[in-house]
Amino acid sequence: MGMIQVAIDGPSAVGKSSIARLAAKKLGFIYIDTGALYRAIGLAATLCGIDANDAARVEAMLANIRLELRHDPDGAQRVFLNGNDVSEDIRTPKASMAASAVSAMPAVRAFLLDSQRKLASQSNCILDGRDIGTVVLPNAQLKLFLTATADERARRRFHELQAKGISQSFDAVKAELIQRDEQDTNRAVAPLKPAADSVLLDTTDLSLEEAVARVTALIQFI
Ligand code: C5P
Repeated sequence: MGMIQVAIDGPSAVGKSSIARLAAKKLGFIYIDTGALYRAIGLAATLCGIDANDAARVEAMLANIRLELRHDPDGAQRVFLNGNDVSEDIRTPKASMAASAVSAMPAVRAFLLDSQRKLASQSNCILDGRDIGTVVLPNAQLKLFLTATADERARRRFHELQAKGISQSFDAVKAELIQRDEQDTNRAVAPLKPAADSVLLDTTDLSLEEAVARVTALIQFI
């Protein structure tokens, strides 16, 4: 039998990665946070002094980029850019916006497509992102689309950033989330949207544990 593939898509800070990681751990699946790949390319542009909106220069840079995902024993994913662990560096607000800018570029999406599919073919897995159910894994056995109000998502991201010592006002966090979702939803290639055959799950009033329990139950039901 082939591998089980689960696609989890949804807007920024809706809890995709936390839910996917914990559900994968419970089930013994591999968890792949695809946003980390776009973030690493955005970070690479910044490190090279390239404007993340400059498609020609970002595209030219791709030839010099090598990305690798590894997993800690607890299932947490780490991302390596040309051999350097950039897992923390990609989580800043600036890196979030750079990721969204580069992710609208067809060359960037093409650059990452095969590697995502290859990773997903090697073991039972949960991938989270924006276009997993629509583009990357159209044949996934389960597709989930998570939602939550902008206020709740901003609250979660605000606390996450605070815990890391990154100070950004609640209003700035919320404004950037909304801007990023707009960009991700309105881009021409692989926009953020639920796959026609996806299950919608509103996490606004769910604790992380409740959301993980729901998702785990859905996967066990496959
Ligand atoms: O999921 P995360 O917030 O880390 O993703 C960062 C950015 O990467 C998103 O705002 C989106 O622009 C892009 N992305 C994407 N497709 C994916 C995953 C992420 O376009 N599958």
